[in-house]
Amino acid sequence: HKWKQMAIYEGRQSSSWEEISVMDERNTPMRTYQVCNVMEASQNNWLRTRHIARDGAQRVYIEIKFTLRDCNSLPGVPGTCKETFNMFYYESNNANLWFIKESQYIKIDTIAADESFTQVDVGDRVMKLNTEVRDISNLSKKGFYLAFQDLGACIALVSVRVFYKKCPLTVLNLAQFPDTVTGGDSALVEVRGLCVNASEEFEAPRMYCSADGGWLVPIGRCVCKPGYEEQKDFCQPCRPGSYKASATDAYCTKCPPHSSSHLERASECVCEKGFHRAETDPRSMACTRPPSAPENTISTVNETCVTLEWSPPRDTGGRGDITYSLRCRKCSGDDVKCAPCGSGVHFVPRQFGLSVAMVMVTDLQPHSNYSFTIESLNGVSDLSPTPRGAVMVNVTTSQTVSVVLKERRSKDSITLAWQGPDRPNGAIVEYEVIYYEKNQREQNYTVLKTRSNVMTVDGLKPGTTYVFRVRARTEGGYGRLLTSRSVSLLSSFASLSLSLSLSLSLFLSPIFPLSPPSLPSLCLSPVKLPGSKTYIHPHTYEDPNQAVRDFAKEIDASSIRIERVIGAGEFGEVCSGRLRLQGKREIYVAIKSLKAGYSDKQRRDFLSEASIMGQFDHPNIIRLEGVVTRCKPVMIITEFMENGSLDTFLKKHDGQFTVIQLVGMLRGIASGMKYLSDMSYVHRDLAARNILVNSNLVCKVSDFGLSRVLEDDPEAAYTTRGGKIPIRWTSPEAIAYRKFTSASDVWSYGIVMWEVVSYGERPYWEMSNQDVIKAIDEGYRLPAPMDCPVVLHQLMLDCWEKGRSERPKFGQIVTTLDKLIRNPARLRELANSSNKLLELNVYMGQYKENFSSAGYVTLDSVLYITISELIKMDVTLAGHQKKILSSVQSLQTQGTHVQV
Ligand code: AMP
Repeated sequence: HKWKQMAIYEGRQSSSWEEISVMDERNTPMRTYQVCNVMEASQNNWLRTRHIARDGAQRVYIEIKFTLRDCNSLPGVPGTCKETFNMFYYESNNANLWFIKESQYIKIDTIAADESFTQVDVGDRVMKLNTEVRDISNLSKKGFYLAFQDLGACIALVSVRVFYKKCPLTVLNLAQFPDTVTGGDSALVEVRGLCVNASEEFEAPRMYCSADGGWLVPIGRCVCKPGYEEQKDFCQPCRPGSYKASATDAYCTKCPPHSSSHLERASECVCEKGFHRAETDPRSMACTRPPSAPENTISTVNETCVTLEWSPPRDTGGRGDITYSLRCRKCSGDDVKCAPCGSGVHFVPRQFGLSVAMVMVTDLQPHSNYSFTIESLNGVSDLSPTPRGAVMVNVTTSQTVSVVLKERRSKDSITLAWQGPDRPNGAIVEYEVIYYEKNQREQNYTVLKTRSNVMTVDGLKPGTTYVFRVRARTEGGYGRLLTSRSVSLLSSFASLSLSLSLSLSLFLSPIFPLSPPSLPSLCLSPVKLPGSKTYIHPHTYEDPNQAVRDFAKEIDASSIRIERVIGAGEFGEVCSGRLRLQGKREIYVAIKSLKAGYSDKQRRDFLSEASIMGQFDHPNIIRLEGVVTRCKPVMIITEFMENGSLDTFLKKHDGQFTVIQLVGMLRGIASGMKYLSDMSYVHRDLAARNILVNSNLVCKVSDFGLSRVLEDDPEAAYTTRGGKIPIRWTSPEAIAYRKFTSASDVWSYGIVMWEVVSYGERPYWEMSNQDVIKAIDEGYRLPAPMDCPVVLHQLMLDCWEKGRSERPKFGQIVTTLDKLIRNPARLRELANSSNKLLELNVYMGQYKENFSSAGYVTLDSVLYITISELIKMDVTLAGHQKKILSSVQSLQTQGTHVQV
């Protein structure tokens, strides 16, 4: 009770409150303050407390106990008798005020007695004890004074209790929340919790302290650190023999096989001797060891090719990631001296890290001895000091046919002669001569057969270079070796002695199309092609939820950790985070969630993306990790692509990549699209903004929703025939009559190529959609971007063929790009100036008015324009200035003078 009587000096008369000791009903003495000047009019008696400190509370409660005499019970009192009194407060930082003006007080309330004046005998008096509680809020100064004003009542103030409320210290979700004073008015006080010992924040723990002292709305939590598990309100160390690897795991678990922990609070168990754990192995996995050697090796020699097959090792070491590696050594006749084979020998599918128990070795030397060592390896082989399990196989190669070419030339004929093989594998039945004009080989070749080993070919075009190839056939089939040679026929007859530099090449059968001699050769073996899969449209399911169950894995929400918002999708935000699945390494993921308040249809459309994506498995298609449908929010989890969408990524790195890198990206996209088209999936919205890029610059096709083209894409515009279409990326037939096919995807791919090579420039710049449609119809096509190799622009133009059957297929695009990557010389020739001219026209077209009013009416006149002149004409965008200046520069250097 912070209560004290003080005399009030203010007012017309001195205070009449008296301090009196009485006994209460239990006969304990108590101190009261009384006033009872009912007989006189015009009373104004004040009683004030000393300064009461606020102690940080914003809202303070005042409970008063008092008695009030009923005026009627007092005989002969005048009408001025009152049955109420007033309560006031005054806030102040000064604890020693001795004088406060009446007018400075703020009134809390007028206090009256309860309706009944039940009488209680206290000593010689009769009183009824009333209790009233009032509060004052939004206090901000150090403290306050309370005051009671009597205007002529008969009052005994028995007690005044001043208090505030606190939310008591508590521990929830392993976070401790301190004793907290409640806020003013109805405000909640937000309180950060502190993680208890041996725990760490999973999500920042918070709670709200309500005005009445209760805790509300716990958010976030702490989790026990690795090596500790949760016990009600604290973290307890894992016992020996158990471990907990990650803070997000709930409990300590027994050490997996072949491992142990001897001390408390282990975050992982140590492998037994001879056993190991690979870096990427989850801690929950048993420790493993390297595999034993491969067994039952079989070698099949086919001339200079060897096929090696073997059985997997008997002891896999407890792992599933067995691979094989081969060492090849060539041995001299007596097998005593062996040396590494060198790079001339080829392994199919590869020499190291084979996942199948078979390999084909090609390009061996004929009639030689080889020794192959086949090692079996797994994820812990590199960690183990013991020698690897390996077997050795020795083979001897052979050769059936070898031919040597001789030639004699005249103006329009040539005579070829060759020697048969040294040791033919059976009798030679015939020789086959194939020839074609160099540079035209795939289109136009001629095959001639003969039993002799001389042949004259005539009717050739003078002045032309031909390539001749000869091979022998025995009863066993055609020989694999073919001699090839190019010969130029001179326009006038001349007999030349040629120095024969023969290039030998292995030859594929079936023989056409001819493979270029520089390609690595292959032995043929039956290869099983995977059956081609077709995409199933989720709408073919009666129950769309079944499609989700069939194609997408349900993920438990507890294995997902959301970290930050990275974008906005059609249905809600897109976040990044981590996913940790049982027995798997934690991975970064993107999490799309369905915002609250969705309709059934929205939920279906949202999840349709997962049931489409879940059907794909390709390195250039965004991978679905799974979905969360059993609890809210509904989420789609995909692999995380660090560099985000391709268009923004390219704009950010304008001009920073080599052409090969750009072609590599395009190759990836084409490969993903080939996969989709092989599955008969038509994307309809292929654009750089729908390609995602990871940290290794790998591009992946994304955005597979059903309603996607209709609603999601901000580029989509309504067409006259209804439906929303991203005009700039869409082929004419798809715009005109919604004919969406893989061929229309190819058109869009061409636009993506253009976007990539121009580093995210907007296709057709600022032209309107209507103008784009018109221009395309009139045969206009986007010009080559700056520094674009001719071959790439040609490929774009091919993709933009009006007739959709004339456009290349994605398979052909991949092949073309692969060839460019292997032979980058063809990328050196940059697109010519007529494109620059076109580009310049397009750019200047936007500024036509500005140019003409500044007096630039011919192209000639702009050739030497400067940046300051451009700025004067309101060409202020740096990108446009740059493009216009670089185009005119290249026109200057080429001396082009064109009238516009
Ligand atoms: P969407 O709804 O698929 O168009 O996604 C919206 C945005 O979120 C995209 O433009 C990207 O910037 C980002 N995003 C979506 N998925 C991923 C992912 N797997 N990795 C990284 N960023 C993503």
